[in-house]
Amino acid sequence: MDHPEPQWAVRVLVDGLGDRVFDYALPEGVEVRRGCRVEVPLRGRRATGTVIRLLSIGEGELRDVPLKSVIRALDDDSTVSATLMDLAEWASQYYATPFEQMLRCIIPETVRSENNDPKTRRVVHLVRRPSEEELNKMSRHAPRQAAVVRALAMSENGCEALSAFGGGRVLSVCRSLEKQGFVRLDFEIVHRDPAGKENFALTRPLVLNEEQKTALECILETFEAGDSRPILLQGVTGSGKTEVYLQAAAEVISRGRGVLILVPEISLTPQTMARFKGRFADFPGMVAILHSAMSAGERYDEWHAIRRGRARIVIGPRSALFAPVVNLGLIIVDEEHDSSYKQENAPRYHGRDLAVLRAHLEKATIVLGSATPSLESIYNARRGKYKLVRMEHRADGQCLPLTRVLDMRSEAKDKRFMGLVSECLSNAIEQRLRRGEQSILLLNRRGFARALQCPDCGFVATCEHCSLPLTYHITENRLICHICGYHAVVPRGCPECRSRAIQLQGSGTQKVEELLKRVFPEARIQRVDADVTMRKNALRDILEAFRAHRIDILLGTQMISKGLDFPQVTLVGVLNADMGLCLPDPRAAERTFQLLTQVAGRAGRGDVEGEVIIQTYCPQAAAIQYARRHDTDGFAGNELGLRERFAFPPFCHLAVLTVRSEKEDLSAYVIKTLYKRLQPLLPQGVEISEPLPAPIVKAYGQYRYQCVLKAPRARVFSEIVAKQISILSPGEDVIVTLDVDAYNFM
Ligand code: ADP
Ligand code: ZN
Ligand code: ZN
Repeated sequence: MDHPEPQWAVRVLVDGLGDRVFDYALPEGVEVRRGCRVEVPLRGRRATGTVIRLLSIGEGELRDVPLKSVIRALDDDSTVSATLMDLAEWASQYYATPFEQMLRCIIPETVRSENNDPKTRRVVHLVRRPSEEELNKMSRHAPRQAAVVRALAMSENGCEALSAFGGGRVLSVCRSLEKQGFVRLDFEIVHRDPAGKENFALTRPLVLNEEQKTALECILETFEAGDSRPILLQGVTGSGKTEVYLQAAAEVISRGRGVLILVPEISLTPQTMARFKGRFADFPGMVAILHSAMSAGERYDEWHAIRRGRARIVIGPRSALFAPVVNLGLIIVDEEHDSSYKQENAPRYHGRDLAVLRAHLEKATIVLGSATPSLESIYNARRGKYKLVRMEHRADGQCLPLTRVLDMRSEAKDKRFMGLVSECLSNAIEQRLRRGEQSILLLNRRGFARALQCPDCGFVATCEHCSLPLTYHITENRLICHICGYHAVVPRGCPECRSRAIQLQGSGTQKVEELLKRVFPEARIQRVDADVTMRKNALRDILEAFRAHRIDILLGTQMISKGLDFPQVTLVGVLNADMGLCLPDPRAAERTFQLLTQVAGRAGRGDVEGEVIIQTYCPQAAAIQYARRHDTDGFAGNELGLRERFAFPPFCHLAVLTVRSEKEDLSAYVIKTLYKRLQPLLPQGVEISEPLPAPIVKAYGQYRYQCVLKAPRARVFSEIVAKQISILSPGEDVIVTLDVDAYNFM
């Protein structure tokens, strides 16, 4: 008897094999769609995997290939929704990333690997409470047994995990208690809840003020209307955005829909998590937390709790955007301007942008919230693509702190600090130390860019074509623009004021720390930078110590600006506000403005008024002046004008094509080859800059060379570039990447 030839095949991402995919014929009677789970033969065994594509046999790539057949379709919990598959597909095209790589975000490795059985643990239940007399006797003859019984009697429901007693010989202790009929030993399936050990007290909704009411109404009306036009919630720091999110989430949940909340980095924003856990404390398991420090087991459990609809509210950083929330109704992106939403390694997606797309695909409402929205979002609001809702007053009725801008060119510099700290700032620090209040000092420094700045007049050497600071290249002894490739000689004196003192910038946190320690030997000073926070949880521990006032002065890079919610901080000093302005990055001014405004909005949250001192060599810079007045709209108007003039985002899309290799000449050769091949292929309107060494030319032992692409739309070049990269196959020792909508030009 003849079997009909199968007409269809499927491409399967097999579990546990990284990005590897295999094709299988689909026998009659087996029905699958994208995202389904299947069992397939693989090297003489059976394996499981996810269907990523349906293919028709006899056409194109599948002609004349004998295929093994799918064994059966699995009906398990790991099936991915069609919407998430569409999202992955779209993202893989837009970000020029293999589909398998995007899918890995959607079905995390731990969910796809096979041996992740639910974890069990041994628990002891108290069955009979011994009498006082028995207990006394036990204390004398078997003190460890007595200790276990006492602890169980104190515990909430007379039950405790064995591990809670510190392991060791406790099992035999419990066994003998079991023989005497006091306890029962048992196994129980554990849900590995990353926040499980903490208790959250139930909080009640606050009575909203007028601004909050308007914001909530707008969100709920949009939700009811099934309108997926994003809402931009522009509310000053402390205006009570989180309370609005909480009440919106409660409404959406009560209508049977799920909620997704994205936050910049969970270890820095434990407050947000705690506030959600607290508000929904009546419903254990309702709020799921996802974060990067979770174990594979915890991730597995949370993923399935979400997938099964047990957890209806999900909070996490950018990767949580792919969480399989059932019947998603509302997405909130908190601090939507934060650059941590952009993933800096493959796949290089932008969490906020994909969240907007997901909301659209799921017909869910999305709220982007920030005190200092990204220019992309402000621009979208101005041209009507987003709805704008404002909250302009602090919910606690406090004023924004007094902000002073100190012109370091004329400021008498405190000799003890060698020009890093002005006399005014060091007096302010001294005063705080005397009053037992805390200070935060911020050193604004990203990367190791070397810009040329005049200490006498503040002049910074910039590109004529991009208005971005030029970067000094020691090998060529030239200043070079990293966007367009413009070269300039290094001036001997300042072109503005003729000063000979013009110099390359750069000063580290360590140096400042040493000086502070010398000048304030009594003060408890803690430095926070990438070196210090290498250790896991180091940052969290430091912030906790600071909150408990075991530290007087916290000195750090922008890293600390996010966790800045400390009521006892009455002074924030920014040591070098213009440093961030000297970066070869079109968002340099925006980032500086956001950083300063965020910092300034946070000093003095308690009862004492706060003071902010900004030291700068460019007091006239727009980013600094608008930040001083907390004027987001003013800054946005000014900056959008500049961006439009120079055709920068949001008026275009920028992508960075980078080649990395341990061999410098190889990097240089490959980027030149790509450049030459791409030039004739790119459609009109797409510009590509000449190949150049990256501003940080060597990192992690690799030499990096790059070109910057600029176009009105990213989709017009991403496919072409991805194809050229794939046919180049430059060998194992060269890595080529394309970063679409890049945030990092270093
Ligand atoms: P944001 O998220 O906008 O920075 P928060 O939600 O953290 O602001 O609110 C700032 C402070 O104001 C918090 O301490 C919060 O409890 C308080 N708050 C918020 N809304 C109200 C309200 N309606 N009435 C009283 N206090 C409020
Ligand atoms: Zn000068
Ligand atoms: Zn330029």
